[in-house]
Amino acid sequence: MRKKIIAGNWKMNGTIPETKALLHELLEGPSDNENVKVVVCPPYTSLYLANKILQNSHISLGAQDVSAHLKGAYTAEVSLEMLLTTGVRYVILGHSERRQYHAETDQLVNTKAKLVIDGELIPIICVGETLKQREDGQTKQIVETQIENSLSGFSADFIKKSVIAYEPIWAIGTGKTATPQMAQEVHKLIREKVAETDKEAAENLPILYGGSVKPNNAHDLLIQPDIDGALVGGASLMAGDFIAIINAI
Ligand code: PEP
Repeated sequence: MRKKIIAGNWKMNGTIPETKALLHELLEGPSDNENVKVVVCPPYTSLYLANKILQNSHISLGAQDVSAHLKGAYTAEVSLEMLLTTGVRYVILGHSERRQYHAETDQLVNTKAKLVIDGELIPIICVGETLKQREDGQTKQIVETQIENSLSGFSADFIKKSVIAYEPIWAIGTGKTATPQMAQEVHKLIREKVAETDKEAAENLPILYGGSVKPNNAHDLLIQPDIDGALVGGASLMAGDFIAIINAI
């Protein structure tokens, strides 16, 4: 039985005081739903503080990315070793904003994912098509290729240590959500694609949906058989909305 995961991607939002305020609001809740694992991914600069605030709580910490390099002359990058000292358990990889603004490829995502798993953290590997690709009927092919390349060389054991997020790019931050049926269809095909490597690992793989998840649409998305949670952007910055999404199932 796959437990639902509700993960908040704060993106480039959250000064130190804002981080403190939002996390305290979340802890005051009610954000502790026994059916759900809750994760928040603040910016790097807030991770140390967030870890202190979330100690011994039901909320886990995630980072929004990691460098593919281990150490050295890579100005502004943040290494796995650095993340390990902040207490994160999850790392978002290949978010469409990283792919779009920083030219991140499936191959880079694959390298980072292997690094993250070797470091005993859990990658949240993002995939998803553009509006044009959907309109051109290419969703299946695009998403399958992203899965194939991003998980290239993964053993069943690696799949078991991963999380996938299906985030149609046209639904991110736009207020347009995939209908539960549209999302379910892609989640199912992702699971089938992963099952080509290992059926049991695919069956246990959490596949999150992301793209304008809000309190008013979360329930209908989360009851779909292959939707195992949500990666939430905008609504994760408002404690009331994020708590409502956590409690939507
Ligand atoms: C995201 O950035 O991962 C996301 C899903 O954003 P939003 O919920 O704002 O669409």
